[in-house]
Amino acid sequence: ATPAATMVGSTIAATNGVLFKGGDVLERVRDVDAVVFDKTGTLTHGEMELTDVIAFADGRPVGDGGPSSTRDDDPPATPDGGVAVDSDVDRESSPGHAASDPETRLLRAAATAESGSEHPLGEAIVAGARDRGIEVDGPDGFENVPGHGVRAETPEGAVLVGNRALLRENGIDPEPAEETMERLEREGKTAMLVARVSPRDGDAADDEAGELLGVVATADTVRESARETVSELRERGIAVSMLTGDNERTARAVAEQVGIDPDRVRAEVLPEDKADAVEAIQADGSRAAMVGDGVNDAPALTTAYVGIAIGSGTDVAIEAADVTLMRDDPRDVLKALRVSEATIAKVR
Ligand code: ADP
Ligand code: MG
Repeated sequence: ATPAATMVGSTIAATNGVLFKGGDVLERVRDVDAVVFDKTGTLTHGEMELTDVIAFADGRPVGDGGPSSTRDDDPPATPDGGVAVDSDVDRESSPGHAASDPETRLLRAAATAESGSEHPLGEAIVAGARDRGIEVDGPDGFENVPGHGVRAETPEGAVLVGNRALLRENGIDPEPAEETMERLEREGKTAMLVARVSPRDGDAADDEAGELLGVVATADTVRESARETVSELRERGIAVSMLTGDNERTARAVAEQVGIDPDRVRAEVLPEDKADAVEAIQADGSRAAMVGDGVNDAPALTTAYVGIAIGSGTDVAIEAADVTLMRDDPRDVLKALRVSEATIAKVR
């Protein structure tokens, strides 16, 4: 394109909230034949809300133990004497409410562990706890395990919040919660396990590595225009795929909502592997636009033929990207394509 056409194109795009980092980017975008979307914060709003809190005792959900046991439609479980989800009764000094019900204790433990986390999932757990009137203290120690969850030292001992792999790595079997996890995941929710790690050489009577405290889940909503965008991209012959650190089942549920082929869903991709996943997609010579918002997405944005950042995303993602969508609207990927095509067409 001539410098003039490029300038006109960039200006038109910019007034529409699509920012190109230079004229060469504008020219490159039209050659894109694959689009890879990050899930959370890109196809979805990334505003996670706590939806389910399911306490476990002796490896089973507290209450009826049935697969439909959720916060929303169940009366608070009244545990018989044996249900000691949180053994430290002395700490229950918070005001007024039923501090001793198992859900409250589970949620307090999870929120305390996550209070040092900047991950949207952690923030949703903390916000959900506060909304329910639970006082959340900071943990004594905190360790972020990227792509897996958190491990925090709390007054009740080390608490884990995260995925199955996190528990396994700490010697705790997530299997008893599998049915509950799968049910939540089929609903497109991100389900997380909460567990307490036993002190290695403490004076605890049991030798077990830890105890499963329960499951918490968050839900996120798909952006309004995501489905329409995917369908228009596909009509243009562009292969659309999804990349996420979230689990397979949740990813597929969201992919189905937006119309992405299940074969083109890459789930449980660790942050450091996202760029490799883009490389794999481009291995057949296709030119991919990666659309993402997170710190995790930055290397993938750089690896892709074109990196596209969501405007409300992290600075790291915006810096790594070639194009920024200021309106956070996936549909603007199409706008970027159209402006690029129109600009190049002008000089041919
Ligand atoms: P995404 O690509 O969706 O942003 P991440 O790679 O950050 O996901 O995390 C992958 C998975 O690890 C999450 O779906 C969740 O199960 C678990 N996880 C990560 N961070 C946390 C956290 N702070 N609390 C609980 N679980 C977490
Ligand atoms: Mg994201």
